[in-house]
Amino acid sequence: MLDLAARDIMYLPGVGPNRAAMLNKELSIRSLHDLLYYFPYKYIDRSRLYYVHEIDGNMPYIQLKGQILSFEETGTGYRKRLVAHFSDGTGVVDLVWFQGLKFVTGKYKLRTDYIVFGKPAVFGGRVNIAHPDIDPADELQLSNMGLQPYYNTTEKMKRAGLNSHAIEKLMSNLMGIIKEPMPETLPPDIISHNHLPSLTEALTNIHFPKSAEELRRAQYRLKFEELFFVQLNILRYMKERQQRYRGFVFGRVGETFNTFYSQNLPFELTGAQKRVIREIRKDMGSGRQMNRLLQGDVGSGKTLVALMSMLIALDNGFQACMMAPTEILAGQHYDTVSRMLCGMNVRVELLTGSIKGKRRAEILDGVLTGQVHILIGTHAVLEDTVTFSRLGMAVIDEQHRFGVAQRAKLWGKSTTPPHVLVMTATPIPRTLAMTLYGDLDVSIIDELPPGRKPILTVHQFDNRRASLYSDIRGQIREGRQVYVVYPLIKESEKMDLKNLEDGYNTICEVFPEYKVCKVHGQMKPAEKEAEMQRFVSGETQIMVATTVIEVGVNVPNASVMVIENAERFGLSQLHQLRGRVGRGADQSYCILVTGYRLSEDTRKRIEIMVQTNDGFEIAEADLKLRGPGDLEGTQQSGVAFDLKIANITRDSQLLQHVRGIAREVVEADPEGTAPQNAPMWERLRFMRKSNVDWSAIS
Ligand code: ADP
Ligand code: MG
Repeated sequence: MLDLAARDIMYLPGVGPNRAAMLNKELSIRSLHDLLYYFPYKYIDRSRLYYVHEIDGNMPYIQLKGQILSFEETGTGYRKRLVAHFSDGTGVVDLVWFQGLKFVTGKYKLRTDYIVFGKPAVFGGRVNIAHPDIDPADELQLSNMGLQPYYNTTEKMKRAGLNSHAIEKLMSNLMGIIKEPMPETLPPDIISHNHLPSLTEALTNIHFPKSAEELRRAQYRLKFEELFFVQLNILRYMKERQQRYRGFVFGRVGETFNTFYSQNLPFELTGAQKRVIREIRKDMGSGRQMNRLLQGDVGSGKTLVALMSMLIALDNGFQACMMAPTEILAGQHYDTVSRMLCGMNVRVELLTGSIKGKRRAEILDGVLTGQVHILIGTHAVLEDTVTFSRLGMAVIDEQHRFGVAQRAKLWGKSTTPPHVLVMTATPIPRTLAMTLYGDLDVSIIDELPPGRKPILTVHQFDNRRASLYSDIRGQIREGRQVYVVYPLIKESEKMDLKNLEDGYNTICEVFPEYKVCKVHGQMKPAEKEAEMQRFVSGETQIMVATTVIEVGVNVPNASVMVIENAERFGLSQLHQLRGRVGRGADQSYCILVTGYRLSEDTRKRIEIMVQTNDGFEIAEADLKLRGPGDLEGTQQSGVAFDLKIANITRDSQLLQHVRGIAREVVEADPEGTAPQNAPMWERLRFMRKSNVDWSAIS
């Protein structure tokens, strides 16, 4: 049997070393297998001929059969073009070329039957088709053509003659050398239950469909397969972990939890908080290690849920720790937790990089002996010098700044891994979460504490600064504080920094009576922290910053978030930034400043921001606008997101369906030894091997 994955693309007839290098570089196609899985992005029906008199301006690609009556060259320089007047007896269309004029006149003859293929446009009452495909009519067997595949190629490839047509030709050469049916990857009962075509059939028809129906079946099978293996991979990892690690059983809800609940809790929990705490308690009592993702919009009260979960660990004789991505955040958590536990017999300590010497030694000693019950800190908590007496529970706040590897390091802090609660304020649509964090159980806080005033979001063009500044002044007079944020995008860091500096200078000039501070990513951490601290303490009224302030900082007195060049931010980033205000009792505002000319996408993003404060709605919209590949957090999550044919948004129902099937398979064959599943596990091993990142999901 021909091993497609092992056979270099170079040896396919029609390829050779040059084209192989190009396919390799431009499309990452290295083997015959890679080529076979390079699917068309669209198909065009080439089985029907149109007449010129039928054409209107709104048609997709069409084909005509007729003859070129004459050629005509017009214009000079870059306006130069070639027109072929083409007729089928029912009318005349102009075939137009802007490039390769010599080639065209040399190749095509007058008064000869051709099939012309292209997208018609009507301009000034005349039909024209720019850069059409032309084939001699006697060479094309129309009835055999069916749907013609179109493949994406890059500019470089096109210049080297490797266009869609050329790929199509290679594909047909490939089909020619695959003589036997390809081995199945899915178990036979899954294929029959779901009425899937065989893999061979699907792969043949995805490239050369004879009919729309065959194409649909092929697409369904390949999407099914793709999503199925993504889910199988995740669920299999989950199973392996469950088999390997047991979890501490926290059966008791004891004195600390109850005392806190009855005496220290300053407000009633929201319904969502209660539900999530129940879910967490159930996990912790199950004997499995908890791996739970807690999603909740900014301000939804995740910290409190985390605190109460940690108290359950304490009540069962264990320690807990909580990690935040920055010193400021860790400090804020420490303050909140200490304040909330005031008067209770719980020792809470803060550990960050800047806590050194004797103080540090004391804390480490307390952690080692078990006298410290709750340790809050930054990455410092993960250092090897930090040894817990009995770590039972770890909370990670603002998950997207912590990589998978760091999460894994936590497990090493104890022979039995602690229960892990990951908290994120970046809402992820359900289907995406299922794929990204499919191994984590998900809890959602979908309710804000009562009495919050929704943030008012407005869009303002940047030529209306006078009114913007007077609004800001009004708020500061009322005692509020203001953020002004500038984008920072890596490719043009210098320019961004200049924007920020200019903005800072302008703000200082416009508001001479107030104190302004400035924070950006190129400052030294200590400097940055000091500036942030000045704002947190209320010493400065305006903070001019890049997105470094995005994560979690809590300044309830800040009521205005001005986002400059808002067109340069993604939706989830805008939403995160907006979440920095609206944390106090006052009405808060988010002002999105943009230029006058906006792309369609930008306009939509701004519109969504103005319309809703709901993070999940925004996440769904973001997923639709951008596709999952670019979504924040997908890179860090360790899943390489290269679905070839399925689409997480459009195929979400199929995703849920295959997840169910994958779960059944994993449950029914936990050791991966059932003979009918052998090809499936083999395929999974192959995929894990060929995509290291993909398997790195924790
Ligand atoms: P986030 O989910 O963004 O981390 P926090 O945990 O920081 O949110 O909570 C935001 C604010 O809401 C805090 O000041 C917190 O004390 C308050 N809060 C939390 N839960 C409740 C509640 N049930 N009722 C009233 N206020 C609450
Ligand atoms: Mg928080």
